[in-house]
Amino acid sequence: MIPAAPTADNRPPSVDRALGWPAMQALVASHGRALVLDCLREALDDWRAGQLADAPALLLAVQQRIERRLAPSLTPVFNMTGTVLHTNLGRAPLPPEAIAAIAAVAAGASNLEYDLQDAARGDRDSHVEAWICRLTGAEAATVVNNNAAAVLLVLNALAARREVLVSRGELIEIGGSFRLPDIMARAGCKLREVGTTNRTHPRDYAEAIGPRTALLLKAHTSNYQVQGFTSSLDEAQLVEIARAHHLPVVVDLGSGSLIDMQALGLPAEPVVREVLAAGVDVVTFSGDKLLGGPQAGIIAGSAELIGKIRRSPLKRALRCDKLTLAALEAVLRLYADPQTLVQRVPTLRLLTRRQEQIRQGAEALLPALQAWAGEDFVVDLCEVHSQIGSGSLPLETLPSAALRLRSRNGNRRSRSRELRQLAERLRGLPYPVIGRIAEDSLLLDCRCVEDTRLLAEQWQVPQ
Ligand SMILES: *Cc1c(COP(=O)(O)O)cnc(C)c1O
Repeated sequence: MIPAAPTADNRPPSVDRALGWPAMQALVASHGRALVLDCLREALDDWRAGQLADAPALLLAVQQRIERRLAPSLTPVFNMTGTVLHTNLGRAPLPPEAIAAIAAVAAGASNLEYDLQDAARGDRDSHVEAWICRLTGAEAATVVNNNAAAVLLVLNALAARREVLVSRGELIEIGGSFRLPDIMARAGCKLREVGTTNRTHPRDYAEAIGPRTALLLKAHTSNYQVQGFTSSLDEAQLVEIARAHHLPVVVDLGSGSLIDMQALGLPAEPVVREVLAAGVDVVTFSGDKLLGGPQAGIIAGSAELIGKIRRSPLKRALRCDKLTLAALEAVLRLYADPQTLVQRVPTLRLLTRRQEQIRQGAEALLPALQAWAGEDFVVDLCEVHSQIGSGSLPLETLPSAALRLRSRNGNRRSRSRELRQLAERLRGLPYPVIGRIAEDSLLLDCRCVEDTRLLAEQWQVPQ
């Protein structure tokens, strides 16, 4: 089939000659000429660089390059980091109802912007707006790509070329790329800081209000807490000042929640309905944080202001696609039944799992993990604290259970290297496993692993 011996002077074959080999032709038949040609050229470069020296090696290199090229880049992983809403790992897992809704509209045409009753042009927000209003008490609502987009759109639509008042204690940065002062500048607004980092009083706002003021903005300081000698205004106080000057109040809730998290035994988080009931005109919050839906930014509030926001040309650029809206509608529908909600929305279910239940899952996984990790490592169970993540207070943690891997090596430096290599092996599995290294151990928090079977199976594969 292929010439077994290297060419006499060990020079690579020409592209045409190699492409003519029957084995290469077989690859062309299954993958197409363009891809094989591309990979062949790269493999021939490897030959010239001295990394290959014969035809079988060339063929293997081409095959491997094709495989790598065709392997999906975006792929499911096991989130064993202990952070439930992990932005880098895709945040909220979707319920089956949302996945079915995505599949139902993905394959063909849908009434995305089509009013079936009147055979007229419809509005894509219509599929979710009534649900958001019912669940939050808002008069109107609209949805965009994510919460950062929601804040950008609201500021641009309501305050371009004017001033926005924000407390110095709320100039937040979330996840490295969302910085309120930057968003403000991009929205074309002038940031006017009021008060100080730790204390802001009603008179600070009142004194800063002038003819160029467009609105008062409050940002939920979701990923940090100012402690000690502090003072800030709650929504009602802010509303009182704004009303006196006929200005709107906008609150960026970040996570926000449609239900009372404390009733589920979780740390308190502002409830959207309560914030709006305090008189706030517009709120923004994420679809894929505590709500447990797809990535989206929800804007809810007064009909007049939402109308203005919806008419902004920026809305068109920031709007959601049909897949997101299908998933969001399906998740919002689950909120109709508070009795089954927590069990049916995976984010809420994972956040409320009992430590004992998580520990049982961890225990069931231990033998497979020990066998897979090998004799060089000790595997045991330990108590850990999971985090909600995505801007919920990092100080508030949930008791959980983890599989702990420690190296038996006597040398500290070697132990640390071995742990890093083990973490790399876990990331290299068909379903990559992402844990976290803490001091002298690699921790795999089992809170987010409800189905242990698939995980155990890939640990049983002989390595
Ligand atoms: C998370 C967060 C954002 C950004 O939301 P995305 O959905 O990630 O765009 C903005 N503001 C606050 C307060 C947040 O917590």
